[in-house]
Amino acid sequence: HAKSQGANRYLFFNDSMNKQAVKRLQLENLIRHGLKEDHFVVYYQPKMDILSGQLVGMEALVRFITPKGGIISPANFIPVAEETGQIIEIGEVVLRKACLAVKSWIDQGLFQGRVAVNLSSRQFSLPFLCELIDDTLQQTELPSYHLELEITEGTVMQSPPQAIEVMKKLRARGIHLAMDDFGTGYSSLAYLKQFPLNTLKIDKAFIDDMNTASGRNMVDTIMTIAHNLSLSVVAEGVELETQLEILRKLRCDVIQGYYYSKPLSEDGFKQFLLEQKHKRTKLTAVPASS
Ligand code: C2E
Ligand code: MG
Ligand code: MG
Ligand code: MG
Repeated sequence: HAKSQGANRYLFFNDSMNKQAVKRLQLENLIRHGLKEDHFVVYYQPKMDILSGQLVGMEALVRFITPKGGIISPANFIPVAEETGQIIEIGEVVLRKACLAVKSWIDQGLFQGRVAVNLSSRQFSLPFLCELIDDTLQQTELPSYHLELEITEGTVMQSPPQAIEVMKKLRARGIHLAMDDFGTGYSSLAYLKQFPLNTLKIDKAFIDDMNTASGRNMVDTIMTIAHNLSLSVVAEGVELETQLEILRKLRCDVIQGYYYSKPLSEDGFKQFLLEQKHKRTKLTAVPASS
């Protein structure tokens, strides 16, 4: 009898559920090991001013280097890290590394803008978030006005009044705030007005949709709303010249995407900065003959 009960209980765990649970546990262990061994690195993707084509900032994007040297993209480990809470430690690592890298590029005269770091929901609701950020900025000697934080609609809509309080505290420090993946979650216009944001990032899905008239209208509408609220607009995932041209007509402010560059390793991004500097020098240099 007992045996049949046991067998019955097993019916709830079919094979595929079991495999999923095992995979999750493996990933959780891999992440724990990766945190201990410093296998989380930060890549950087340029954000360019749409009119001047000049670099205005970059987004820090985490990458997980596996023991075998492969790279796991955040889409594959962030959901699990969110569930286990490991995202908090990963987030601290990313913030510290991004601040250090940008501080060194500023000190080398290669960069003057802001680095944008993504905040997960769990990080955003940490009671000591502001203290953590203050400590990191102090330890890395990065002035707060070089930092921007990207937060999604889902994160701020969990508890809008509380989110507004946290956002105000961050803004009071001179940190910029961007709403990430705009349009993919649900945030009411009433709240959008109340959130102390600087920037709205239009999700790639809308940019991809601009090959239809209705898609272009949608982006136009988002752009109008954002500008009416005095927010600057970043288009995410711009890959094509045609998209860039439409976005320029629609008065988009900043673009980020493979059109300019994929996310680059720290060394790769430094090379990118050196090239930018070289271009600027060429533009402003006085010919030797004159
Ligand atoms: P996100 O914050 O919306 O970041 C933009 C994503 O779009 C990045 O993917 C970037 O590589 C990708 N992307 C940019 N331009 C293009 C393009 O032209 N074409 C295509 N196909 N993709 C483009 P990535 O690096 O895989 O990151 C995925 C998501 O993972 C991020 O979306 C963000 O939500 C999350 N994430 C990344 N790093 C962190 C982090 O440090 N902390 C947290 N909490 N989340 C992070
Ligand atoms: Mg982002
Ligand atoms: Mg985004
Ligand atoms: Mg996105």
